[in-house]
Amino acid sequence: MDTTMSEVVQFIQENDVKFIRLAFCDIFGNQKNIAIMPTELERAFEQGIHFNAAALRGFLNVDASDLLLFPDPATLSVLPWRPAQGRVVRFYCDIRYPDGTPFEGDGRHLLREANRRARRAGYSLTMGTASEFYLFELDENGHPTTIPHDHGEYFDVAPLDKAENVRRQICLTLEEMNIQPESSHHEQGPGQNEVDFRYAEALEAADNFVTFKWVVKSMASSSGLFASFLPKPLPHAPGSGLHLSVSINKNGKNLFQPSFEESAEGQSFVAGILQRAAEMTIFCNPLTNSFQRLGEFEAPKYITWSHQNRCPLITVPLTGDHSANRMKLRAFDGCINPYIVFALLIHAGLDGIEQGLPLPPACDENLFTASNEVRTRYEALPGALCDAIRIAKDSDFITKYLPEKARTAFFAAKQAEHDRIVLADDRTAAERSLYFE
Ligand code: GLN
Ligand code: MG
Ligand code: MG
Repeated sequence: MDTTMSEVVQFIQENDVKFIRLAFCDIFGNQKNIAIMPTELERAFEQGIHFNAAALRGFLNVDASDLLLFPDPATLSVLPWRPAQGRVVRFYCDIRYPDGTPFEGDGRHLLREANRRARRAGYSLTMGTASEFYLFELDENGHPTTIPHDHGEYFDVAPLDKAENVRRQICLTLEEMNIQPESSHHEQGPGQNEVDFRYAEALEAADNFVTFKWVVKSMASSSGLFASFLPKPLPHAPGSGLHLSVSINKNGKNLFQPSFEESAEGQSFVAGILQRAAEMTIFCNPLTNSFQRLGEFEAPKYITWSHQNRCPLITVPLTGDHSANRMKLRAFDGCINPYIVFALLIHAGLDGIEQGLPLPPACDENLFTASNEVRTRYEALPGALCDAIRIAKDSDFITKYLPEKARTAFFAAKQAEHDRIVLADDRTAAERSLYFE
């Protein structure tokens, strides 16, 4: 739906809307917002709403801390969990300097640029996120514990599965927000769940992922629970991944059709992403905790691809007629900034196509059970946050596609996070205090 500003103004007037949330993400992908009253909406569209960027971690613009939020009318959505009288709606916003130039740390801007590059070359992309999360009990003060809500396992039913009502609320709420849920289930870990929803064009998919996390956290909270997207909240239980499906069309036709084997461009797109996988890792697996997930419980570690689902970094699943129409990336976790990650993926894939990069042979071995000798034949993802930072800092690819201000702020914050955690006496406790609440 392409909503225009006048349609938005009419909707606000006719639906008893009293609060308008202007939402955006900081460079780490954490959602922020300010509420304005309906009287201010026209000013927001025309002149933007001012905020102090210096007060936000990762928006290190002390020299030019005045930034403006411009609501994107296409992102209008009611927040169904807020009161029905005096409704609350939200917009995702574009972030600009007072002179109108886009702010370099605005992930939506970076993703729009990547989309523009794709469109110029005749490509369009859709993305679908499938993200796992844990539900934990709260203590008597309402603070999260690491006690899982249940001891259910993969696909369990009630009473082992105690989360059926929370997942139900998540699905119904997503539906009310025009994000179509597709399936939901109990995952392998105790208290671990997954809700999958429909793919969309890349920018909308990133907005939807941010909304999805908000819905999950809000629905859990209203059930007296804490939802965590931390990649490895329990050291000996399965981690939570974010599996991303990507489809590419060229001039309206799926690039992997009639077959992936016959699609030189499709193969080069995948090769381009594999080529940059290590350099992008700091954005795809952005926490010290992320690296505890990789390499066990079906979370990939090696930079490989396959048609089969033996947990390589990328699978190109074959459908019933043995053709493929999408790729699935399995390494990411739910703590990413989806805008930055999607933008980098698009650039990496398009670079692959431009360079006519050949696809390495598929890896059909099970690298979880393979001998060390077999594993050493494959390049691994960086093994720790500090390695991922170093590789990204040295990367011409990251330097080319991420503005200097965004890079510097991101790397500095990640280094500080790393130092704080590895220097702590109790690393697990330090991670929990930094990432859990
Ligand atoms: N939890 C696994 C991961 O971390 C995935 C398990 C699954 O959904 N097959 O990616
Ligand atoms: Mg799944
Ligand atoms: Mg899953």
